[in-house]
Amino acid sequence: PVQFDGAAVTVVGARVVGLSASAALSARGAKVTLVDRYDDEVTTARAAQAAEHGATLRLGDDETLPAGTQLLVVSPGMPPSAPIVAAARAAGVPIWGDAELAWRLRAPLPDGSYAPWLVVTGTNGKSTTVRMAESMLKQAGKNVVACGNIGYPVLDAVLRGQAGGEAGEPFEVLVIELSSYQLHWSSTLSPLAAVVLNLAPDHIDWHGSYAEYVNAKARAYENCQIAAIYNAADLETVRLVEEADVVEGCRAVGFTLGAPGLSMLGVVDGILADRAFVDDRRTSAAELGTVYDVEPHAPHNIANALAAAALVRAYGVEPTAVRDGLREFRPEPHRIAWVASIDGVDYVDDSKATNPHAASASIGTYDHVVWLAGGLAKGADFDDLVERHAKRLRGAVLFGAERHLVAEALRRRAPEVPVADLGGPGPDQAAEVMAEAVKAARAMAVTGDTVLLAPACASMDMFSSYGQRGDVFAEAVRELKAEVAE
Ligand code: ADP
Repeated sequence: PVQFDGAAVTVVGARVVGLSASAALSARGAKVTLVDRYDDEVTTARAAQAAEHGATLRLGDDETLPAGTQLLVVSPGMPPSAPIVAAARAAGVPIWGDAELAWRLRAPLPDGSYAPWLVVTGTNGKSTTVRMAESMLKQAGKNVVACGNIGYPVLDAVLRGQAGGEAGEPFEVLVIELSSYQLHWSSTLSPLAAVVLNLAPDHIDWHGSYAEYVNAKARAYENCQIAAIYNAADLETVRLVEEADVVEGCRAVGFTLGAPGLSMLGVVDGILADRAFVDDRRTSAAELGTVYDVEPHAPHNIANALAAAALVRAYGVEPTAVRDGLREFRPEPHRIAWVASIDGVDYVDDSKATNPHAASASIGTYDHVVWLAGGLAKGADFDDLVERHAKRLRGAVLFGAERHLVAEALRRRAPEVPVADLGGPGPDQAAEVMAEAVKAARAMAVTGDTVLLAPACASMDMFSSYGQRGDVFAEAVRELKAEVAE
């Protein structure tokens, strides 16, 4: 355990994670300075809680490093290019993200052991995989928590029942979604098992390059204890496992949609089969249910289920609990969610497809798609996506700030696909434009087609979140349905 007594720690960001960090560090005797860019009412009110725990506040400046800082704790979104980070680096001050801090603040359970970490990262499918693993662990009777980048901070999960944390029983096992940002700021995590689900360009603007983004994801495998889980269909994840510095005895375990080889999980005649975590690996496979136990049983989602199964099997969960966990699992909203059918055309909300790789998985699920896309591209490239699916695309309806990037890719790689350009308005007109977009899509669609919101972009130019974008789409579809019925 690290000694924080008397240490001068600077925490950046007076938001959920920053406040938890500040409280926990203060409770351990650190001299905390909480800094935040903003000096408005909301920030002042939040920061007041930290002051109660003994932190010093510095609002209105998150760029200069307070003199004497011995450790800098940054919130997950803080880019590596931020001035305070550069200053800390220049001064040789260690920089920890919230996951790193959480790892260092772990406390033993009553039996002296530490709650293991099952880590999930990758470009797409993270939340789904975490929820599936959580469901399996619940079926196994474990006091599990799903945390990290899915709403409940990993720091809060670790601190539960500890000084500076919320009251309650400490968790027995953590399934943790880590973003590339959080991994960038982590260095000593040692998960029991970890998976990088897949890799494709995303968040390039934040990391500076695709290589840096991959480097960050690669950290998930570092110091892995029991199983470093890779996607056999994604050779880059295979390479990362091969290059990772894992704990001695840790195994590479793969998942595939085909028949599994040794030390792999896969699919045999529709049955999810585990040939990694079985007693006699040469001859036997454990059956973990069938593809119909996975909802929706689209290929990418079966891959997510296998990844989740690998994680919990590494922890010792029985096959029946894996199967029951899948049966209990329900997808979260805005992930290939069916909204309505109008004149034999299905309208589907996959607003969570916020990058080209995710959009590709969902477009690939259907034969003929009228595609609603656009928003903030985050430095991504759309050429491969539109080329791969050119034949499926009945048409494209584009909106949002960087829709021209999608339009240009279509012009280059799929010139035969008709495009409707709805403009890139601010949030005020988002609902109107979405209503127009749905109508334009209806005009393009033929009976049997799917109108699919899978924007391949972030939503923040027009909407408050991908969730709101999906809600606005669903509302527009319902209104259209009502109009058509009249
Ligand atoms: P994340 O947490 O990584 O953003 P989610 O589980 O929320 O991932 O899924 C986000 C979107 O990514 C889904 O709506 C779907 O379009 C797509 N997706 C999910 N799983 C995969 C996968 N294994 N491969 C490719 N795309 C996927």
